[in-house]
Amino acid sequence: MAMNLEDKAALTSGQSFWRTKAVDALPDVMVTDGPHGVRKQVVGEGLGLLASEPSTCFPPAVALGSTWDTALVRRVGEALGEECQAMDVAVLLGPGINLKRTPLGGRNFEYFSEDPLLTGVLAVEWVDGLQSRGVGASLKHFAVNSQETDRMRVSADIDERTLRELYLRAFQRVVQQARPWTVMCSYNRINGIFASQHHWLLTEVLRDEWGYEGVVVSDWGAVVDRVAAVRAGLDLTMPGPDAAGDEALVAAVRQGALAESALDKAADRVAAMVRRAVTSRAPEPYDQDAHHALAREVAGRGIVLLKNDGALLPLPAGEPVVAVLGEHARSPRYQGGGSSQINPTRLDNALDEITAIATGTVTFAPGDDVDAAVALAAAASVAIVFAGTDQETEGADRQEFELAPAHLELITRVAAANPRTVVVLSNGAIVRTAPWDAAVPALVEGWLLGQAGGGAIADVLFGRVNPSGRLTETIPLRLADHPSFFDFPGEQGHVRYGEGIHVGYRGFDARAQEVAYPFGHGLSYTTFGYGAASAVETRTGAEVRVTVTNTGDRAGREVVQVYLSRSSSRVRRAPRELKAFTVVDLAPGESASVVLPIGAADLAYWDTELGRWLVEPGDYTVAVGASSRDLRSTTTLALTGDDVRRPLTAESTLAEWMADPRGAQVLGELFAAMAQGGDAFARTAGDPELLTLMGGMPLSRLVAFAGDAFTPDALAAVIKSAN
Ligand code: BGC
Repeated sequence: MAMNLEDKAALTSGQSFWRTKAVDALPDVMVTDGPHGVRKQVVGEGLGLLASEPSTCFPPAVALGSTWDTALVRRVGEALGEECQAMDVAVLLGPGINLKRTPLGGRNFEYFSEDPLLTGVLAVEWVDGLQSRGVGASLKHFAVNSQETDRMRVSADIDERTLRELYLRAFQRVVQQARPWTVMCSYNRINGIFASQHHWLLTEVLRDEWGYEGVVVSDWGAVVDRVAAVRAGLDLTMPGPDAAGDEALVAAVRQGALAESALDKAADRVAAMVRRAVTSRAPEPYDQDAHHALAREVAGRGIVLLKNDGALLPLPAGEPVVAVLGEHARSPRYQGGGSSQINPTRLDNALDEITAIATGTVTFAPGDDVDAAVALAAAASVAIVFAGTDQETEGADRQEFELAPAHLELITRVAAANPRTVVVLSNGAIVRTAPWDAAVPALVEGWLLGQAGGGAIADVLFGRVNPSGRLTETIPLRLADHPSFFDFPGEQGHVRYGEGIHVGYRGFDARAQEVAYPFGHGLSYTTFGYGAASAVETRTGAEVRVTVTNTGDRAGREVVQVYLSRSSSRVRRAPRELKAFTVVDLAPGESASVVLPIGAADLAYWDTELGRWLVEPGDYTVAVGASSRDLRSTTTLALTGDDVRRPLTAESTLAEWMADPRGAQVLGELFAAMAQGGDAFARTAGDPELLTLMGGMPLSRLVAFAGDAFTPDALAAVIKSAN
């Protein structure tokens, strides 16, 4: 590119809050939030919470993820792409794929799951769908941005294995499989270094290892030092303008403090992205009705039926008297606060939608006067309580895991007044359901469902949709049980990811803890039976097969889940890890043979010693079922695995040497020779008791015990011959 230094620097910061800079012959393009709708500000270019043009408010990720439905997620991506095209938006700032590390995460509603595989697989579809319409995605927030508390400064202190296997894993998958146009770095620090200036993260891992070729954009205001950021691999600083930063880049190049090639790369990547946006531009009006209908379909699929004692649900349309209680039924909570807030094209509410379906009487009380609400419940044939949280927002984590006292009182007193009580929750992140749910026969997790959620709730309550949503996170009995409990939200600028790989269900399972509702749980109005699962190694990884039968009397959808475990491993393993899933729609009595492939990469763990992914050879346990704790069939998977030999060094222990066939042979020969020479230590070296005592000793230190015969030269010689 024939740009001068100033132009190149200018191109690496925005022109305004939402636009890249027009430089030379290159035009400016718009990037905007995201993720569950298009938030294009109507007026001005200022700070991002001004009024925006109407667009479809699809269910936020908390509900979208609960569908576990890759095809549906892709369709949402496509629809978002169409709306972006209609609104002249080149890049939509999503999806958000940070892990839900704690139930209190303020942006959990924008994220998919506590599990990296589920998150990654769904996000690939979202990005593919969006980008198939010629609109770029922005995979965010890279990385380890799982809390809002002190989000612009806090250092997420985390070990490499946890980072690789959990917090980076979904990013890796989406980068490699869907090639997002942009990746957005997070605000926080990772092990002390700002994500925006993290060379290892932005260059060594993202580009060199994963092969990423797109643009790294900063989160809005994440860049502290433009020169350090460009040096680390960040391309585009947002928002703009930032003339001082542009000048600092020019000066740094002139003074030799920044390689011009680093700036060239950043500018080239921004320019390539802008050109791509321009050539992909295809503005056409979209079908608002169709998108509203899609939003309703997704919402219906995202609702999770947590509990349904005595098959209280679905209700017949002719239910005599339905008491609808709680303001959320009339004034829905359908999205969270912050940068993702959409101005919906329309807004349904559950009260109207229930009234439209029910042929009997529908009564309503907002629930602020609990006595009145209880009176309606007592007089009704069924009571539906709408409860939930009041607000989840970017910028702040939640303070409470419990529902508000007023909601708890409403639930408890209504349930006491009417044994046929259904609770519908509206919440962006899980709330405590114990112990009050014991008194409630039916519990519907309605999340934040987007603009058409009201209709979707009515669809599920009356059986027009047979629920198939599944929890993407564990609901614990109490917050103190949660693996993140001691290490959230951190203090004095640091949050330690102390639970390591045991995020979410991995931690609950490792401690064999009872939970309220496990990861993957969700009921249906029908039932499913599982045949015997089988698993085989394949050229690309592994393949699991199982036959699933709809054993009930209505059509329904099962979400088939595959979990892998390995009991003996050289590293600590979670008791179960999700490795594959799929949805299957079955008519009553129908069976389907389900095939679930597992990619080789998903069979590996990150070996910190060797600095690589590794598949351990041997037997694994494969469990197939309807949730992480409703496993219906178990089988064994034998994997060839990776044939790696760890080099033996002076710092390898005696036990490590003896466990390695070549090492044992070489040492054995040495000790035999020493013993012949009369060395006392060497004569006992093969003794099992001695091995237990001395096994943990590095060979270098053994020299001191072994007498003169084991010289540094001899040590060097055995190392050479062992390797
Ligand atoms: C958020 C991002 C968002 C950006 C632009 C930031 O505060 O963290 O998710 O895309 O603002 O609004």
